[in-house]
Amino acid sequence: MTDAGAGGKDRRRRKDKDAAVAVWREKENIDGKQVDAGVIILRTSGCSHFHKGGCSMCGYNIESDRSISADDIVKQFDVALSGLGGVAMLKVYTSGSFLDGREVPAGVAERVLGECADKGMRLLVESRPEYITADGLDALLAAHEDIELAIGLESANDKVLRHSINKGFTVGDYDRAATLMKERGMDLRTYVLLKPPFLTEREAVEDAVATAEHAAPFSHAISVNAVNIQKGTLVERLWKDWSYRPPWLWSALEVARRCAGLGPKLLCDPVGGGTVRGAHNCGGCDQVILDGLKAFTASQDLSRLARPECECEGMYRAVLGLEGAVVGGTPDLQRFFRRA
Ligand SMILES: [Zn+2]
Repeated sequence: MTDAGAGGKDRRRRKDKDAAVAVWREKENIDGKQVDAGVIILRTSGCSHFHKGGCSMCGYNIESDRSISADDIVKQFDVALSGLGGVAMLKVYTSGSFLDGREVPAGVAERVLGECADKGMRLLVESRPEYITADGLDALLAAHEDIELAIGLESANDKVLRHSINKGFTVGDYDRAATLMKERGMDLRTYVLLKPPFLTEREAVEDAVATAEHAAPFSHAISVNAVNIQKGTLVERLWKDWSYRPPWLWSALEVARRCAGLGPKLLCDPVGGGTVRGAHNCGGCDQVILDGLKAFTASQDLSRLARPECECEGMYRAVLGLEGAVVGGTPDLQRFFRRA
């Protein structure tokens, strides 16, 4: 690389420190009403757990930078917020935990909470359970009452958390944090992962359903997140090796159908759906299923789920039967069949 190139990169990186990773507007359903929401992804020093190995499917820390200061993050937030226009809800994501004081310094949290309180915006933030304490929640609620706090439980099976995801916490840790929130009447959004690595397609469906069932008594909303292949992750290495396939959309559909009646609002709108790196089917029936999932997520009306007739469902059923029983692993059988 030339000196000019490296210098250019340095300049860009310095500038990036006070620019949010991404900002956009989207629709959100609050108490049955469609409202405008703003999404701000802040660049931070990174998830504490990433520095200890990180989760097998998470590549978000590609955007983080250990030298970012509190002032940088406040500036990111201010610029992003002023560009968003009026919204009823603000979702502020970092690559890790909003309640981790090392990642999101107190001054940043104060600024975000203060703006939301002033403007009457509902706030959604995320945290790992280890940063959720009674005192921390009380301080949060004192600053702003209308908060939804999300936890990425991913799986309610400790073996899956430990060996497939490398999550770095247990189901018990989630239960403790979720109980503290419930005691305070706080809205919890639980993320459920559809298809951690090393699970067969059928195991993945059953694990997602069992996880949603576990989370339901604690949760205001459950978001079923289909794995998408992110750069630099273990899941990407397995995928390149034909040892992993993102979930079928048939699986997402089944999980949505089985979890819709659990009580909490159910969200299932796969990121990167219909692409090779996201949840996908044969390519022919993907869009109609994705449109159905999106319409269901927005309306909570099960009749909006689409169930197209497509011959790839036969291959899907065959994969469900073959994985585990014959192959004893989780290879990407669809890619194999296509080549054969
Ligand atoms: Zn199809």
